[in-house]
Amino acid sequence: MKKLIFAVIISATIFSSCCDKKETNRSKETVNEKDSTVYSVSEHQSMATLWFQKSAEARALFLQTYNFAEKLLTEKLKKDRFKLKKKKPKAIIADIDETVLNNSPYNARLIKTGTHYTPETWTKWVNEKKAKALPGARDFFNNAKEKGVEIFYVSNRSVKNINSTVENLKNEGLPFADKKHVLLKDKTSDKTARRDSILKNYDVIMYLGDNLRDFNENFKYTKNGNRNDSVKTQKEKFGDLYIIFPNPMYGEWEKAVYEGNFGISDLEKQNMRLKALKEN
Ligand SMILES: [Mg+2]
Repeated sequence: MKKLIFAVIISATIFSSCCDKKETNRSKETVNEKDSTVYSVSEHQSMATLWFQKSAEARALFLQTYNFAEKLLTEKLKKDRFKLKKKKPKAIIADIDETVLNNSPYNARLIKTGTHYTPETWTKWVNEKKAKALPGARDFFNNAKEKGVEIFYVSNRSVKNINSTVENLKNEGLPFADKKHVLLKDKTSDKTARRDSILKNYDVIMYLGDNLRDFNENFKYTKNGNRNDSVKTQKEKFGDLYIIFPNPMYGEWEKAVYEGNFGISDLEKQNMRLKALKEN
């Protein structure tokens, strides 16, 4: 019996040391010193991207926001029934990226290859047409269509990528995926002119986006301005005219961290991030 216990202990020790070694080797292979330097370029984005891709909370937040938008839409249309004055047809303006379509795989690529965003790699991703509809989006927009509301997608994807963008939206089952309803960026990232062109002929009852500039250019980052103040002065519009979605991966908010300067080195950016963190 003693012999048997001894044998069990010995094999357990051998097994455990073998696996520890394996684990250590695997860890080393995964992140060695060289990799660590490469990954450091975009590694700071990994938790935000993982949150967006893996957390049930992210999924729930998208569903919650689209469910809320649906109730709001029903309420708005009900109120409108009692107005006798004939008005313009109703429309919703929605951003595309990280509002309707999920591009987090592109961010994952940047992290894994240790690279920054470039128009070339982004265009490649867009033309692959692999972006999936975010939770709740397909149902919300199709229900809005059934209720007689038109959808306009106003996005800062380049106008050169109109065909692949329309196709991607269509493949994901989004309504109004056509060139009349998809307004992309030609010269400026300011969406005001595109929004105004819709407002001429439509009564826009809701704006959806993951970036406050999807609603109004007052939310643009300026060195001396404070975007939080603009949120305060327009607070009644949130959950009424403006519907915001979470995007911790990128956006206008980053400019406040780097004080509007994206041209600085990776090390300087790292220092700016540290400087921007508040401890009290
Ligand atoms: Mg967006």
